[in-house]
Amino acid sequence: MTQLAERLSRISEPETIKMAKLSRELKAQGIDIVDLSIGEPDFETPVHIRDAAKKAIDEGFTHYTPVAGYADLRQAVAHKLKRDNGLEYTPEQIVVSTGAKQSIANAVLSIVNPGDEVIIPTPYWVTYSELVKLCQGVVKFVPCSIENKYKITPEQLEAAITPATRLFMFSSPCNPTGAVYSKAELAALAEVFARHPEVFIIADEIYEYINYVGKHESIAQFGDLKDRTIIINGLSKGFAMTGWRLGYLAAPPAIAKAADKIQSQFTSATCSITQRAAITALTGELTSAMAMVAKFKERRAFIYKALSDIPGLKVIEPEGAFYMFPDVTAFFGTSYDGTTVKNADDLCMYLLHKFHISVVTGAAFQQPGCIRISYANSMEKLAEGVKRMAEGLGKLK
Ligand code: PMP
Repeated sequence: MTQLAERLSRISEPETIKMAKLSRELKAQGIDIVDLSIGEPDFETPVHIRDAAKKAIDEGFTHYTPVAGYADLRQAVAHKLKRDNGLEYTPEQIVVSTGAKQSIANAVLSIVNPGDEVIIPTPYWVTYSELVKLCQGVVKFVPCSIENKYKITPEQLEAAITPATRLFMFSSPCNPTGAVYSKAELAALAEVFARHPEVFIIADEIYEYINYVGKHESIAQFGDLKDRTIIINGLSKGFAMTGWRLGYLAAPPAIAKAADKIQSQFTSATCSITQRAAITALTGELTSAMAMVAKFKERRAFIYKALSDIPGLKVIEPEGAFYMFPDVTAFFGTSYDGTTVKNADDLCMYLLHKFHISVVTGAAFQQPGCIRISYANSMEKLAEGVKRMAEGLGKLK
């Protein structure tokens, strides 16, 4: 048997990627799967960004770039942070990577020592905990309730912090719940952090533009938190550029320098052509990005109503991102063909194999009573998916 490194036993493959793989395999067998498992805009990248990439190829931007990205790209990121978030960063505080995922990895690898505690409010995005475990940190989950729209309260945060706490990680808008922290909610958390100056914060803002309730707020805006916050963002979601691979972090200079050092040994810089296109995305018009958000909003209204009409599902209206995260506990203990549905994993497999609709178990996000349904899909697919789901759930007795 092949002897692999011990660290592999500490982490697992994302359930989201596993489900997407399984759906792809079933599709390859000719089965008509409605795939609502993937967190990816179905739109094409806006034309002006694609044109910038073509121009970059023709102009010969095909060589290695600085590890942290072209200087004018980092300047463009700084411009974006000032324009959208009112935050001042120098290009030296910005490190561009192959995606928000790599930026989070750079930050966690730069901060977490073995034994350090990292607080993660749940439900949360699957990758956070696995990166902490890779660094032999100790994951401290804080369960957030549906009654509080799945957001951590200042009291919960205060109670979770110990002398060993090194880092707090969260996303707003949140994958998988769609929760968006308001300015007042962030201010209340900031007050707690003010009492604990040794704690770093990773603020994952990749869904910044996909917000249905108002202006996006960053925790880095509060007090002196900018000095220990690592903002994570990128182009994947807001500009429909998942395949281009570009993310970035904005951080205090020492963390940015550390992230650059780590990245210099893993991947070096991301693609030169993507970087040139990113300058156009970050400094150009946002009309096409906002048009996509308007579409997501229509889909949200549709799927929220449709899922609310299915008996047994407990649904809250998401404030951002493009996921529904209904509670499905009413179906636990029901059965079909003599098989009992014990949990959300069983329910997802039942829906996939019997009704050909792919969604992700909430267990993947530390919320085993829920399932995640992505509505980054056409209205036709959503309508068909909901129809199949209603039929499948209706047959469970
Ligand atoms: N953070 C969150 C919360 C996400 O949902 C995702 C993508 N699913 C990422 C980060 C990673 O994005 P990227 O494609 O930029 O690596």
